[in-house]
Amino acid sequence: MAKKSVFIIGGGPAGYVSAIKAAQLGFEVTIAEKNSFGGTCLNRGCIPMKALLHITSFLDKNYRRMGINFDNLTYDLDKFRAWKDQAVKKAVKGVEILLKKNNVNIAKGEAFLLGENKVKVNESIYEPDHIILAMGSEPNIPSFIKKTEYIWTSDDALELKEVPNRLLIIGGGIIGVETATLYNRLGSEVTIFDMLENVGGVGLDKEIANELKKQINGNGIKTILGNKIDKIDGNKISVGDNIYEGDRILLAMGRKSNLNSNISEVGIITNKNKIQVNNYYETNLRSIFAIGDLIDGPMLAHKASNDGCKLISYLAKISIESYDIPSVIYTHPEIASVGLSEEAARKKYDDIKMSRFPISANARANCTKELKGMVKLITVNNRIIGVHLFGDNASEMIWSFSYFINKGIDINEMNGIVFPHPTYSEAIGEAILGVSDSMIHI
Ligand SMILES: Cc1cc2nc3c(=O)[nH]c(=O)nc-3n(C[C@H](O)[C@H](O)[C@H](O)COP(=O)(O)OP(=O)(O)OC[C@H]3O[C@@H](n4cnc5c(N)ncnc54)[C@H](O)[C@@H]3O)c2cc1C
Repeated sequence: MAKKSVFIIGGGPAGYVSAIKAAQLGFEVTIAEKNSFGGTCLNRGCIPMKALLHITSFLDKNYRRMGINFDNLTYDLDKFRAWKDQAVKKAVKGVEILLKKNNVNIAKGEAFLLGENKVKVNESIYEPDHIILAMGSEPNIPSFIKKTEYIWTSDDALELKEVPNRLLIIGGGIIGVETATLYNRLGSEVTIFDMLENVGGVGLDKEIANELKKQINGNGIKTILGNKIDKIDGNKISVGDNIYEGDRILLAMGRKSNLNSNISEVGIITNKNKIQVNNYYETNLRSIFAIGDLIDGPMLAHKASNDGCKLISYLAKISIESYDIPSVIYTHPEIASVGLSEEAARKKYDDIKMSRFPISANARANCTKELKGMVKLITVNNRIIGVHLFGDNASEMIWSFSYFINKGIDINEMNGIVFPHPTYSEAIGEAILGVSDSMIHI
């Protein structure tokens, strides 16, 4: 029997993971990419940002209190840029190698839909059984803002061409606070503006958001919250009667989906800048699917890849479980969450229970003196419904909670888990004990 064919538009984490998965499950796969494989994540998002946050973290450490003297500490911006570029290059090359290894056909260029089963790239026409839209997103520049030399998007900030003396950031969500952390370390005077009362973005647990605000303020990042920007004029921002002047203004007010590729011409339905899909990622046109940043849900790389895996499993008629998507903010300390915030949990349930363990009481934190933060578990009837980690290495410890939450594991079944000593993860063990009021180290 002839193989079913899949054509994927976009080679970001949604598209390239779908391509590999589909090839592994026996589909004939072609993927179109108009720029570099890896999309936003590898080229202009997760990877360059985390490479730069890593390298600049050494500027942030208080070595003196450890007895190491770094008087006259300097840095070389060109080397930082090269470090980041190397990380991007290696990641992109890796994706190209994986696609080839899995015999995925590559169509280099911009793809356009010509109909329900027809796509064009350059002069070639493809007629696949299924089309997957994975064109991702780009920085949102609202129509009332003109892109002048003063205006930066996250793409400009990650180029690392210069370190502005004064950086004004509009938007205190994940991209806003991560970029603020980066340029604060590099020596910019950074101010974040947000119409919300908190930083960290919509949906972040309020208590954790307050801790994050305290932490970044303590590092010297200013925050002006709870007010809308009235005007941007050149390098100045007006908020009420106050005018703030910067050398660069970063727009970090969300991203907009790439609704290109002729999707409206072929009649695909969109809503509020997102492609509408059902639970199986099907658009209103039966053979066309959409995943990743193009559809509703958190705009995160692992969510985009997970969409791809779930969709390909559906096309291959293989069932696969769904889990809550964790989210991380790579500030110092890091924040990692999954499930409900306290506010959302209170709205949904009458009887929630909270268990908090402060990182300051953790043995590993006592060695590193990274004492800020907490583990916060939210439970209902002994089952975890929300987890919020604020502390060093939080990003590495959150994953298992998607499983515990979605499987509805009873907290008593977790009481016997042994956490190695001394690790930050012991704070999680204590918080688990805290649900039955039996913490040991506090
Ligand atoms: C600064 C920043 C930091 C981030 N950090 C994180 C993080 O730490 N963790 C995390 O999970 N997420 C992070 N993200 C978000 C993450 O990058 C995105 O959610 C993810 O890349 C979305 O994947 P995608 O495949 O849907 O889209 P994209 O990655 O945007 O990929 C879409 C691809 O489609 C291509 N394309 C578009 N139209 C066409 C066409 N017509 N023909 C051919 N190709 C086309 C584009 O060139 C692009 O390569 C960050 C984003 C930014 C901006």
